[in-house]
Amino acid sequence: MPKCLVCDKELVINDCHAPDDGTLWESTGNWGSTVYDSMHSNVFLVAYVCDECLLKKKDSVVERHVVVDSRPVDKPWTPGG
Ligand SMILES: [Zn+2]
Repeated sequence: MPKCLVCDKELVINDCHAPDDGTLWESTGNWGSTVYDSMHSNVFLVAYVCDECLLKKKDSVVERHVVVDSRPVDKPWTPGG
């Protein structure tokens, strides 16, 4: 059973392959990391963060808005907004 990356709480994966009361995070890594850069878009890391931990750390999260032919814009994340 997957666990929250932050608090180790066990999470239940639902029929949509996502955790109930939590979020699924994927990363292909990136150049610059000394730990992970998969170099393949079909190979990536998966982690889970429970909703409670995500809300506790909301000030460390931004919501990235991607617009075609423009640079992504990171905005403060407002839960429920
Ligand atoms: Zn947690």
